[in-house]
Amino acid sequence: MKNLLIQNGSVLLFSEDNSDLTFVRKDLLVSDGKIQKIEDSISEKPEDCFVLDASGMAVLPGLINTHTHLPMSIFRETFEGCNLYDWLHDKIWPLEANLTDEHVYYATMLSYLEQIRTGTTCTNDHYFFSEAIRKATEDSKMRSVLTRVLMDSDGKEAGKKREEEFRSFYESRNPENSLITYTVSPHSLYTCSPTCLEKAGELAEEYHLPVHVHFLESQKEIQDIQDLHHTQTAAEVLKKYFSKSKLILAHCVHLNSKEIEILKTLDCGIAHNPVSNLRLGCGIADTTLYQKEGLLLGLGTDGQGSGSNLDLWESMRMACLIQGGIHTEEEKRLSAKDVLRMATIDGAKVLGLEDSIGSIEIGKQADLICIDLAQNFAHIKSTPNHNSISDLVYNKNGYDVDTTIVNGEILMLHREIRFIDAEKIIHEVKRFLF
Ligand SMILES: [Zn+2]
Repeated sequence: MKNLLIQNGSVLLFSEDNSDLTFVRKDLLVSDGKIQKIEDSISEKPEDCFVLDASGMAVLPGLINTHTHLPMSIFRETFEGCNLYDWLHDKIWPLEANLTDEHVYYATMLSYLEQIRTGTTCTNDHYFFSEAIRKATEDSKMRSVLTRVLMDSDGKEAGKKREEEFRSFYESRNPENSLITYTVSPHSLYTCSPTCLEKAGELAEEYHLPVHVHFLESQKEIQDIQDLHHTQTAAEVLKKYFSKSKLILAHCVHLNSKEIEILKTLDCGIAHNPVSNLRLGCGIADTTLYQKEGLLLGLGTDGQGSGSNLDLWESMRMACLIQGGIHTEEEKRLSAKDVLRMATIDGAKVLGLEDSIGSIEIGKQADLICIDLAQNFAHIKSTPNHNSISDLVYNKNGYDVDTTIVNGEILMLHREIRFIDAEKIIHEVKRFLF
């Protein structure tokens, strides 16, 4: 792999405890996919080194999407006029019954194109057709956490088959490929019987993998979980089956104080998906309270079927804004700094990847993005700019990303995609529109 020198950028650095974020003018040297030097000025460069001039740009850790369903790009804008249950039962699940590996491969590639374009460098996926997704992940050179979703609400045999598919998918992994890691992923507590959850817990322990599950997304699932698992408190179900594993909980919109107290005793992180939650009418997760209680928060988009797009800038802004709908005092609400952390270092912690990604530090993998900071007519929303962190969260969007780097490899340079034939992917996806 080539060496990479990024010069003259305004680099986002975290304080030691990650509580503070500052922009500092620095040069970065990347070799073997890792950040090797962060210095005021690096004049000596190794042989075979690509120099990227980041003048006028912010250099950030790549954004981390802690919950999505990569192939759901092809279900974009199928939701209008539905509620969550009707949408899943009447639209999504029948469409999914007709998917093929080819659909899923190109749909996943489309999602990776969208993420590279908008500055996301790591994705936590939750889907099936896992081989096709893994092939797309390898072809796109992206970093992802993959799985084969487990559930058995349609029968024990179907549940057993999914377990076997997960096992063979995981065991056929290439251990040399550090860009792909894995989770065990029961769909939810309302679509998985006690037997299915017990099996998921065993798999997670056997393979030492985190558990990634939808949790308390909608009000309606609370009753379903009580009926299926004979308990008043959904978090007790998590504690029963997954107390020995790391948990990635997608949504957590409806946590009561009892749930919060139980979650505090577990090794868990929350994937907060504000756009999808609002679109599906699921409500507003009280992330201000969760943060105050010490729960770990990351950011996600959910699939495009409910989240519309994978632009984490939109999710960052929404995560801040919606707290104003439930908390009136500005200084006590989730801040722009908080959500920038959620989209980077805290997202890495949610996925258990904080030792390798999530911040710009010597020794970490070079997952980086450059954002245009120009103040001119083309960037009139950012002109003038009194606070760089606020500007990033409230005024930028994915199209402001200039360059996207994963593992030291430049996947998009000055808005030009590399390695992937974008026209072909878009053509193929349009060909099999439902
Ligand atoms: Zn989801």
